[in-house]
Amino acid sequence: MHALSMKNLTIFLIPTGLIMATIWFFPQVAMLPSGKLALLPSAPYLIIAMGLLLSLYFHRGRPFFMFLVLSAVYWSFQGHLRGAPAGIAATVLFQSACVLVPLNIAIFSLMRERGIVTVAGRLRFTFLGLQALFVGWAVEPGHVAVQQFLACRFTENQILAGLILPQPALPVIALGGIVVAARAIKSQSPIDAGLLGVMAAFTVACNGIATDHLTPVFMTTAAAILTLGVLKDSYNMAFKDDLTGLPSRRALNEQLTWLGRRYTVAMVDVDHFKWFNDTYGHDVGDQVLRMVASKLRSVGSGGKTYRYGGEEFAILFPRKGRDEIIESLEELRRTIADYQMRLRSSDRPNSPKEGKKLRHGSSRGNSTVSVTVSIGVSENNGDRRHPSDVIKAADQALYRAKGSGRNRVCS
Ligand code: GH3
Ligand code: MG
Ligand code: MG
Repeated sequence: MHALSMKNLTIFLIPTGLIMATIWFFPQVAMLPSGKLALLPSAPYLIIAMGLLLSLYFHRGRPFFMFLVLSAVYWSFQGHLRGAPAGIAATVLFQSACVLVPLNIAIFSLMRERGIVTVAGRLRFTFLGLQALFVGWAVEPGHVAVQQFLACRFTENQILAGLILPQPALPVIALGGIVVAARAIKSQSPIDAGLLGVMAAFTVACNGIATDHLTPVFMTTAAAILTLGVLKDSYNMAFKDDLTGLPSRRALNEQLTWLGRRYTVAMVDVDHFKWFNDTYGHDVGDQVLRMVASKLRSVGSGGKTYRYGGEEFAILFPRKGRDEIIESLEELRRTIADYQMRLRSSDRPNSPKEGKKLRHGSSRGNSTVSVTVSIGVSENNGDRRHPSDVIKAADQALYRAKGSGRNRVCS
C-alpha cells in the first residue's frame, strides 16, 4: 500500500475543491433570478446525463452504474424536495436511499472495473435492480421490521440526533467513507477519489432535503465530481504510465511542443535488463523498473521524468544547459547503482549457477539485486533544432555510453 503522504492525497483535490466551491456558492443560489432557479431541479439530470455518456464512451462501468443510482435516487426524491419526507412510503424511501447509496459506493469502490455491457456489468445491474425491488417492497405498509430498523435511533447525542439523516446511515457513511478513502489512496484512481466525493456530497444532499435548493445543488456537485473523475481517469490512461506512475511518452511529446529554445534531454536505459528479466522473471523486472522510476522521479536540477518505453526513460530539463544538470545525472546514476533492492525469497533464482552468476555479476549477495543505468545527454542551446533531433542526439550519446562500458553518463 502507498505510504500516506501529501502526494497521495492530491487525488482528492478536485472533489474537495468542488465541495468547498459548492458550500461557498450555496448561499447565493436563492438570489438567482427566478428563471434560473426554475431550472435548478433539472441540473443534476443534466450532469448525470453527461457523466453517463462519458462513462459509456470510455467503458467505465463503476461510474456508469453510480450515475444510474444517483439519477434513480434523485428522481425518487422529487416528491419531497421542499420539506422533510412525509408519510411512511416517502420516509422509508428516503431512509433506504440514505443507507443504500453509501453502502453501494463502498461496494463499488472495492470492485474491479469490468465494463458495462459485459457479464459482470449485467450482474452489477441486476444487483442494483434487486435493491430497488427490495426498497419497493419495504415501503409497502406492513413491513414493519425494515421500517423500524431504518427509523431506529441509537444515540441522543445532540449533533447526531439533530440530523435529518436516519441514524442507521451514520455508521455506513463513516465506515464506507474510510473504505473508499483507503481504496482511493491505494489505487490513486480519480474515479475512486470521485466516489468519496460523491459519498460526501450525497450525504449533505440527503441531510439538507428539507432546505430549499440544497438537494439539487449538492446532487449536481456529486454528479460533477464523478464526471470529472471519469475525465481525469481517461486523461491518465493516455498520459500516465500504469506500471511506474510516471508521465508517458505521449506526455513528453506534448511537453516538447511547449518548450522554449533552451533545454536539455537525457535518455536513460537500464543496463542488461533483458538478462535481468530472463534470470528473475518479469515480475521482479517490473519491480526494478518501479524502483528505477522512483529514483529518476526525484532527480535534481528541475528535471521531469517520463517513461519513454520499455526500460527506457527520458528526463527533460527545461531552461537548463548541459553543464547545469550533469552533476545531478551523475548523482542519479550513482544512487541507482548503489541501491540494493531486496528480493522476497520467492523471487530468488532457483538454479545455483544463476545464483553464482549474480553474486559475481550485478548483485551482491543472494537476497538483494542491483542494476545500473546508462545515460545519454543532449542540450538545445537556443538553436532551432527540432525536439526529435535533440532526442535523437541524446539517444546517440546513450549508445556511446553503452559502447564504452555502461553505467555512465555520456553527452
Ligand atoms: P542494454 O544494456 O544494451 O540496454 O541491454 P538490455 O538487455 O537492457 O537491452 P534490450 O533493449 O535488448 O532489452 C530490453 C528488455 O526490457 C527487453 C524486455 O524484456 C524488457 N522490458 C521492456 N519493457 C518491460 C516491462 O515493462 N517490464 C519488464 N519486466 N521488462 C520489460
Ligand atoms: Mg533498451
Ligand atoms: Mg537496456
